[in-house]
Amino acid sequence: MRNLKDLVEEIKKELGIEEKVKIELKNYKRLIASTSLEKNIIRINRKILDKDFVEKKLGYENHEEFVMKVLKHELMHIKLKTRWHVPQYFEKLM
Ligand SMILES: [Zn+2]
Repeated sequence: MRNLKDLVEEIKKELGIEEKVKIELKNYKRLIASTSLEKNIIRINRKILDKDFVEKKLGYENHEEFVMKVLKHELMHIKLKTRWHVPQYFEKLM
């Protein structure tokens, strides 16, 4: 998988996000990721950086694709400044 920061920058560009976004790795038990809209911080479960965990335990075929999907999801919350999954949110992911 490519560098996490590079992936974030790539998706930010794609979504037209210019503000600074910080990424923190967490040891969540159940949560995959969460976002602080006040501080522009995306917190991701460090387990998803583990290719074996994602592909063997979670059953996703492509590790990097999965990580990008998670990042894109959280970055959309920052772009739209909402915690909710409003219709606009889903349209932009498609
Ligand atoms: Zn969400």
